[in-house]
Amino acid sequence: MTIDSFNFAGKKAIVRVDFNVPVKEGKVTDNTRIMGALPTLKKILNDGGAVIMMSHMGKPKGQVDMKKSLSQIVPAVSEALGVEVKFAADCGNASAEAAALQMGEALLLENLRFYPEEEGKPVGIDKEDPAYDEAKKAMKASQKEFAKKLASYADCYVMDAFGTAHRKHASTAVIDEYFDKDSKMLGYLMEKEVKAVDAVLSDIKRPFTAIMGGSKVSSKIGIIENLLGKVDNLILCGGMTYTFAKAFGGEVGQSICEEDKLQVALDVVAKAKENGVNLVLATDAVAAKDAIDWDTMSFKAGADVKVVPAQAIPADYEGLDAGPESRKAFAEAIKGAKTILWNGPAGVFEVEEFTAGSRAIGEAVAEATANGAFSLIGGGDSVACVNKFGLADKVSYISTGGGALLEAIEGKELPGVAAIKA
Ligand code: AMP
Repeated sequence: MTIDSFNFAGKKAIVRVDFNVPVKEGKVTDNTRIMGALPTLKKILNDGGAVIMMSHMGKPKGQVDMKKSLSQIVPAVSEALGVEVKFAADCGNASAEAAALQMGEALLLENLRFYPEEEGKPVGIDKEDPAYDEAKKAMKASQKEFAKKLASYADCYVMDAFGTAHRKHASTAVIDEYFDKDSKMLGYLMEKEVKAVDAVLSDIKRPFTAIMGGSKVSSKIGIIENLLGKVDNLILCGGMTYTFAKAFGGEVGQSICEEDKLQVALDVVAKAKENGVNLVLATDAVAAKDAIDWDTMSFKAGADVKVVPAQAIPADYEGLDAGPESRKAFAEAIKGAKTILWNGPAGVFEVEEFTAGSRAIGEAVAEATANGAFSLIGGGDSVACVNKFGLADKVSYISTGGGALLEAIEGKELPGVAAIKA
């Protein structure tokens, strides 16, 4: 079933949305993901249906954590949707609220991840424990019960949370079992995201430049290895810089560095050479001494900041952004590209003093896009960068997915998509 051909009149639709939005002091600070879900939600309401929205927020690990309560976003969702959104404070016991919902109304369920059943991982037991397998089996059974309960609230199911489509969770890839083929479908956002990935993969216009940033090599290594078979230029930046610098025998001071990934870094360099990929790594860094209050993500006034070689960071300094020479090299590899994928910032972009690397990337991507490149930006932090620098309308496509986007680019079928097809 496709959402366009479905008539929601007189039906209650349960929609898995991605409302994992940043919240500060009880207020939504970036509503990109809420806006992303609107076409689907509005179609349901305009058809004459009722909508039940479900989402996760953060990682409460199967426990109630009011700092991650979706009640905080009710005003923002109401405003975006133009309907007073009702709230069910217990997503696993919302039968009464769902039954009371009238056509044209909207209900938001509390954070799905307050229940461990959503993710389906046993809690409080180590993987090494001999009882783990039994616990996992029991959890899978209660996950099915949880999904069945969610399904019972509605007549049809719409999967529109691209950001979690790579997870096999109750609300993304188990609930579908309780709906027949004609009453489950992907939402507009999912359709659009899948199409954007296709646009990159099915018809790669060269040169293809990928920019991978963020904090760690370990979380990106799968996609990096995969991209080495696809791209012409690969820029690796952000905290990853220092694992490479250390692997080359450099000094990284206090910079973030994964000591157990040094060989992985060298393998990436070797594979890039073998495949004729132009690997671009930062040669200089903006480093600082005890400059950031990591709790508030703010700059400590008067902290010493200087530009140093990326492989010679002084012992008590920390590399926090790409230096001017690196920014130039990044821009060079981006400007001539015809296909661009960007995931992850080049520095601690949350703090103004360390935004220059990410800004240089964003501006080069915008310039290449103006010259005809297709640019795809994904992952919460890169999207935040693009928004922060006012470049959102100067890139081709902003994905709401980070991990899901990368897995789709790797060519893996997303469980959330497969579930609808089954
Ligand atoms: P990730 O979640 O792995 O995509 O990483 C995103 C985070 O990486 C952002 O919060 C950045 O502040 C952080 N980051 C980028 N560059 C650095 C760096 N040089 N040192 C520490 N953190 C960094």
